[in-house]
Amino acid sequence: MANYKLPISQINQLFKNKELKPSELYAETFERAAITESIIHGHLELFQEENLKKALNSDKRYEKGKNLGNLDGIPIAIKDNINISGYATTCSSKMLSNYISPYDATVITRLKNEGALFTGKTNLDEFAMGSSTENSAFGPTKNPWDTSRVPGGSSGGSAAVVSAGSAIASLGSDTGGSIRQPASFCGVVGFKPTYGTVSRFGLVAFASSLDQIGPITNHVEDARLIFNSMKGHDPSDATSLIESKAKQPKLKNAKIGIIKELMEDGISEDAKKEVHKVAKLLEAEGHEIVEVSLPLTKMSISIYYLIAPAECSANLSRFDGVRYGNRVSGSTSSEMMELTRANGFGPEVKKRILLGTYALSAGYYDAYYGQALKARSMMKKEFTDVYEDVDYLISPTTPSDPFKFGEKSDNQLEMYMSDLCTIPANLVGMPAISIPTGLSSQGLPLSVQIMSPSNTDNTLLDFSESLESLVAFSDKPVINGVVS
Ligand code: GLN
Repeated sequence: MANYKLPISQINQLFKNKELKPSELYAETFERAAITESIIHGHLELFQEENLKKALNSDKRYEKGKNLGNLDGIPIAIKDNINISGYATTCSSKMLSNYISPYDATVITRLKNEGALFTGKTNLDEFAMGSSTENSAFGPTKNPWDTSRVPGGSSGGSAAVVSAGSAIASLGSDTGGSIRQPASFCGVVGFKPTYGTVSRFGLVAFASSLDQIGPITNHVEDARLIFNSMKGHDPSDATSLIESKAKQPKLKNAKIGIIKELMEDGISEDAKKEVHKVAKLLEAEGHEIVEVSLPLTKMSISIYYLIAPAECSANLSRFDGVRYGNRVSGSTSSEMMELTRANGFGPEVKKRILLGTYALSAGYYDAYYGQALKARSMMKKEFTDVYEDVDYLISPTTPSDPFKFGEKSDNQLEMYMSDLCTIPANLVGMPAISIPTGLSSQGLPLSVQIMSPSNTDNTLLDFSESLESLVAFSDKPVINGVVS
């Protein structure tokens, strides 16, 4: 197996044993990028020059046995809505094409303290709104398994580069599924932690009550390593959690609930088959599988498309040509703002701002936004009650395998439906992980999603790691005749 596909702990051991140098690993991923990027377009920007120097410094630290942390010399790709000081943060929007961040996001500071290298910034749907990267102002990312198909979104770039081997791991953000859905489409692991466990400071806000940063990796253990390097209270993020003790689900003889509503209409036979396959494997290990009903999950798209646009319409008001955004001049200040916003935002972003402004407007607030908030609390209760009985929940991550470019962009409802299985975890704030488990009848990756109660992230990761070894999914995409 290529070094860039090894678990980070093994790479670290090779560094420590002086069998591999960080600069050699970096050269390997960069060479991989040279082959794959022109086909995949996962990175918007690659940081080559400065990384060579950084990797050589990392070499020296390992030579002296003084590596900074377990991520020293590990090339990680960063979604381009997370700030790295001195580099552009475009959010794949024309609005921010000239914006250079003056500061590091907390997650970046924490990964830098561990010695991580950043390969560059990855492509996304504009302001993280979308499920395919087709909404990027800088062109879409292609799925490494089949370039006629989307890599998922919004963190499509972050998932594609890990799958293609031009980064060892990446960071994405997940508001309604943007880590898990692209991870599933690209055959890699995607983890959305409990809301508030990882600081959002320095992440460009989309819908603040739902946004969460998390890792996309080749292995569950890498997700655990990166999550634990980033997590922890941050005074700069008002919603950041102070670590609290929660009752942990069982690792052995656990009870696992298949969510009935996520195995019905709209879910492909292939996706259902994958859940049943995994359930059988778990049963053989001594776990108990039951069917559970969470009726409000059926409402999750409607709830999400009121709450997320409402919050985005407020969050995106700062892009006005005065505070942020490429200014387009006008004869009055309001004309300037109008032109700035008309020119800077793409159609999906405009649509969400309009939807959100409407849902929040005086005469409709209670009927739309207020109702959505109530339904969200009820949904949280449904989940909390179910977790009284089961340790974990299982579902497909996505209703189907990766779709083709253009296939859903003309049918917004269908596009929105592709997040049916992932949105509930955001609405209830609980952790969820997508683990690749097999290939569809078309030879494309499929995954299952495992969920657990709030603040049980590390137990969920431990459980997922045992599931990962049970499933033993080892297929890799082939790009230009070369296996990743
Ligand atoms: N696809 C969903 C949307 O379009 C989720 C996006 C996300 O999680 N950032 O809003």
